Amino acid sequence: MAYLFETEEHAAIRATVRKFALAHIAPHGAKWEEDEEFPIELYKTAATAGITGIGYPEAVGGQGGDLSHVLVAIEEKILAGRSVGTMVGLGTHGIALPPIVRFGTPQQHERFVAPCLREGKISSLAITEPSGGSDVASLRTRAVRDGDHYVITGAKTFITSGTRADFVTTAVRTGGEGHGGISLIVIEKGTPGFDASKKLKKTGWWASDTAELHFDNCRVPVANRIGPENGAFPMIMQNFAAERLMLAGQCVAIAELAYREAIAYARDRQAFGKPLTGFQVTRHKLADMASQIAAARSLTGETCVRALRGEQLEVAGLAAKAKNVATDMCSYVCDQAVQIHGGYGYMRETLVERLYRDARLYPIGGGTREIMNEVIAKTEGY
Ligand SMILES: Cc1cc2nc3c(=O)[nH]c(=O)nc-3n(C[C@H](O)[C@H](O)[C@H](O)COP(=O)(O)OP(=O)(O)OC[C@H]3O[C@@H](n4cnc5c(N)ncnc54)[C@H](O)[C@@H]3O)c2cc1C
Repeated sequence: MAYLFETEEHAAIRATVRKFALAHIAPHGAKWEEDEEFPIELYKTAATAGITGIGYPEAVGGQGGDLSHVLVAIEEKILAGRSVGTMVGLGTHGIALPPIVRFGTPQQHERFVAPCLREGKISSLAITEPSGGSDVASLRTRAVRDGDHYVITGAKTFITSGTRADFVTTAVRTGGEGHGGISLIVIEKGTPGFDASKKLKKTGWWASDTAELHFDNCRVPVANRIGPENGAFPMIMQNFAAERLMLAGQCVAIAELAYREAIAYARDRQAFGKPLTGFQVTRHKLADMASQIAAARSLTGETCVRALRGEQLEVAGLAAKAKNVATDMCSYVCDQAVQIHGGYGYMRETLVERLYRDARLYPIGGGTREIMNEVIAKTEGY
């Protein structure tokens, strides 16, 4: 099932991304997940194939298109590539670059954005700190102005692609307490005092790397600041809304894949002399899964269309709703897919076992389920 907004253009993007994912991800995805790493060359392969630039203006090195094109590209990467860890690792530019595209200077577009989209340079977004991720306004990493540089000290954690990133779009405190004292600064690999820890071990998303970053008196040029000093909080919130929409889209795609796996298994597996689909209880399970996927897809699609119409106020709340609806749905669908697979569903060789673990991230990453409810409560006005 496609999103209601899809046109021939989306179909063409789906075909291109499917071809890429079938050729470059699917044959190796399961091994990369076990190895907890995919080859770094894949960033370059994806950029050269025009996959990385989908949804970015041509002026900054992209292929053109908008959020709706990114949403379908993500879905095809998951459905055809069958490796969520690879998809998220390959996709961190999707959260690291948009603030630079929106608020950066042409020089910053040329220095940071174009090399990622055209050559496969790697970027990460670093907001979360060891002392807390939900309360962004309280972040502690400090950047002190010294002439035409900032001197940055602090730490970030759980940063996707953090060990491999050529640069990190980093939220730092340049001013006083609270949300009015935060700036976004690009910190480049190799900057003295910038160090990425070894990869963190985690429940799912194994093929992606997740790191803790340390900044010890890092001297970073003022020219690396994105947008106005102390003006980053609204930029970060705008970025979060788009990220949450994309995370909802990932949930829809993961659930769709788990559902397809469950149908195939239920048709094939025999019990008491008939396939599992011969039992009404299995058919109803599949029907419930299909219904919930359709509902989450509808809300995700509507949020995307409203975002494209520029309904910013509406979209912050809708993106939070879509993320919660889609994450709950994805957890449920993956759990049911495991159940339909019986003992095989608990085995590492089975795709739905991995999807079940991958799904657990979504009520946490990009803002937790509880924080989404806070956003919803605020936008609903109570
Ligand atoms: C695999 C993975 C990849 C990630 N990638 C990135 C990345 O690339 N960049 C990045 O910046 N971050 C990343 N994160 C971090 C992620 O965004 C944070 O984990 C998330 O925002 C929650 O922050 P926290 O872990 O510090 O939890 P905390 O903020 O400490 O929250 C702990 C618990 O308290 C609850 N809680 C907190 N405040 C409230 C409240 N006001 N009301 C009700 N409940 C509340 C939370 O919902 C949660 O259940 C990643 C995390 C993971 C696990």
